[in-house]
Amino acid sequence: MKSRHILLAGAVALALSACGNSSAPADSAAPADAAPAAEAPAAAPVEAAPAEAAPAAASTKPAVVENCATTIESNDAMQYNADSITVPASCTQFTINLKHVGTMAANVMGHNVVVAKEADMAGISADGASNAAEHVKAGDTRSIAHTKIIGGGESASVTFDVAKIKDGGYKFFCSFPGHLALMQGNIQVQ
Ligand code: ZN
Repeated sequence: MKSRHILLAGAVALALSACGNSSAPADSAAPADAAPAAEAPAAAPVEAAPAEAAPAAASTKPAVVENCATTIESNDAMQYNADSITVPASCTQFTINLKHVGTMAANVMGHNVVVAKEADMAGISADGASNAAEHVKAGDTRSIAHTKIIGGGESASVTFDVAKIKDGGYKFFCSFPGHLALMQGNIQVQ
């Protein structure tokens, strides 16, 4: 009788420790992530999903890049269809084609693409208000590259030297008044 209790107790302890091990990663996601994935191959499929989702959250809509160029769509809802552009380091020059797939006019829902340091975005947008065709002040050297402002159904493109953004910290964004908050993404050389 007594020995049976001990066996049961042992079984419970084993079960408890097994539960403890398997629930640990779920309870504390961040610190436990790497270790269980490496230690327990059985848990790998479960662990792999959040591990891959984490970098994707930073860029949920990477732009499709081909032949040192990309095409970004913009719409009447004040959105780009991409939030990240990765420029291949092998490219000397890079072209951004911008399409406005909406129907609203350029003076109401105009879009452009400006490439600049993140710290310069707000200043470029504010100073560009006086230049409705581009929404970038003439001669603004903070702009590495920018297209003109386009309305629904229109397109524009701009090509720039990749060397100009190799030091990192650059963004692409729309400088039309009020659009910066929603229409921006990272652009990096890799
Ligand atoms: Zn815009």
